[in-house]
Amino acid sequence: MPTCKECENEADKLVSVKVDGKAKKMCEDCADRARENAEIAEESESVVQNMMGFKGRR
Ligand SMILES: [Zn+2]
Repeated sequence: MPTCKECENEADKLVSVKVDGKAKKMCEDCADRARENAEIAEESESVVQNMMGFKGRR
């Protein structure tokens, strides 16, 4: 069985998730967590952008 690099547990399968622009292999538990963290990071980034008047700009 493959070993997850994040929690060091053996997992049935590893999925690759993009973290900070890098693809990382991890178990589904860690993948879920990583996705949640990524969403939170994106949200807080857009909040900051709105505060700074970047609304609507990309
Ligand atoms: Zn894991």
